[in-house]
Amino acid sequence: MKALYPGSFDPLTLGHLDLIERAAQLFDGLVVAVLQNPSKNPCFTVGQRLEQIRAATAHLPQVAVASFDGLTVEFAQSCGAGVILRGLRALSDFEFELQIAHTNKSLAPQLETLFMATATAHSFLSSSVVKEVARFGGPVAHMVPPGVAQDLATLFNQMSPHQA
Ligand code: ADP
Repeated sequence: MKALYPGSFDPLTLGHLDLIERAAQLFDGLVVAVLQNPSKNPCFTVGQRLEQIRAATAHLPQVAVASFDGLTVEFAQSCGAGVILRGLRALSDFEFELQIAHTNKSLAPQLETLFMATATAHSFLSSSVVKEVARFGGPVAHMVPPGVAQDLATLFNQMSPHQA
């Protein structure tokens, strides 16, 4: 069975990566897919996010990296995935994720959504938290893969605090 792990990944964190590494053991193939959603006003372009994920998952041959727009269920079907994978950090994630899972089930009954609990050590991590710390020059090496830390430093060094 193949799984799709969709998300914004703006940027990829060690929490995402931990989930990818564990899911790669469970499925024959895993597609990590960046949702192109300009309304979220992302910090990194889709191209940058794809590159960040590719670099961080280069050691996982069963992982493919892609981007998509439109409905997640349609993209899952187009890549032959039977499972949509999502991570749960805390109860606060649950209500929204359950609503999306039910919506996706109503659109594509043959697809299953599976939730994986995040690693305890990374359960506090979100892309927003990482960006907030990096924006003010704080250390992020324990939160993101090295390539992402580099990109964050480049991004926020270029901007004045007002722009960021
Ligand atoms: P989205 O905008 O789709 O929520 P995110 O990039 O924020 O995109 O998250 C993608 C997926 O990764 C979601 O299922 C989310 O719950 C999960 N996730 C977010 N942070 C972590 C983390 N620290 N550990 C594991 N999974 C996470």
